[in-house]
Amino acid sequence: MEMESGPKSAGKLLVIATPIGNLDDLSARVRSSLATADVIACEDTRHSGRLLAHLGIEGRLLSLHEHNERRRLSGLLATLHAGKTVALISDAGTPLISDPGFLLVREAVAAGIRVEPIPGPSAPLAALVASGLPPYPFTFVGFAPPKSGKRRTFYRKWAGLGHTLVVFESPHRILASLEDAATELGERPAALARELTKLHEEILRGTLREIAVELAARPSVKGELVLVIGAG
Ligand code: SAM
Repeated sequence: MEMESGPKSAGKLLVIATPIGNLDDLSARVRSSLATADVIACEDTRHSGRLLAHLGIEGRLLSLHEHNERRRLSGLLATLHAGKTVALISDAGTPLISDPGFLLVREAVAAGIRVEPIPGPSAPLAALVASGLPPYPFTFVGFAPPKSGKRRTFYRKWAGLGHTLVVFESPHRILASLEDAATELGERPAALARELTKLHEEILRGTLREIAVELAARPSVKGELVLVIGAG
């Protein structure tokens, strides 16, 4: 077993959650951490630039996304070894949760750098706790695959798990995905959380097919979605 033997350098990596819709969810600790970090690694510098401007913070932003995370590692590790504080944020919610940052955290841990979470909003947990479904054991499975064949295999993989499942899905595919989930998992209880913490927040509860019927009756489905599926 690997024991944490304490940081070998004075720098630290802060993994910071930012709001998923409602800016009032940004804590005082997040604000002060962003204000004092030497570098803020973020998915999209324009997007995070707007958040910082809203907070009145002039941070040094550096892009870190799926296409450059590996390339950025050595520079960020050097910054951390030099004793600086690096803040890691994503466009919304908690970094690493279907967002960039895992490679950086893994390498920072391996290099003996202190890694500190600054917790806050995360869509999967927000959906889970409001779903009315058993909150644990639960498994967060990320985005369902876009194509039906792979999606059915994906749902089938979790069929015998006995856990509440938390799935990210896009509004364009949610109807087909609910159908695939029902086919592979059976008619389970579920909750569909839409636009959490935003103006049009809504949580639909029912069986997978009941939720599909409700959505099919609408002219369109819009917004960000988390599907929570009961164990059956
Ligand atoms: N790391 C983020 C987090 O911790 O919430 C998730 C990032 S992932 C790229 C984006 C997906 O999260 C969306 O497609 C949607 O499934 C879900 N999501 C994000 N914000 C949401 C919200 N306000 N309401 C419902 N789902 C949301």
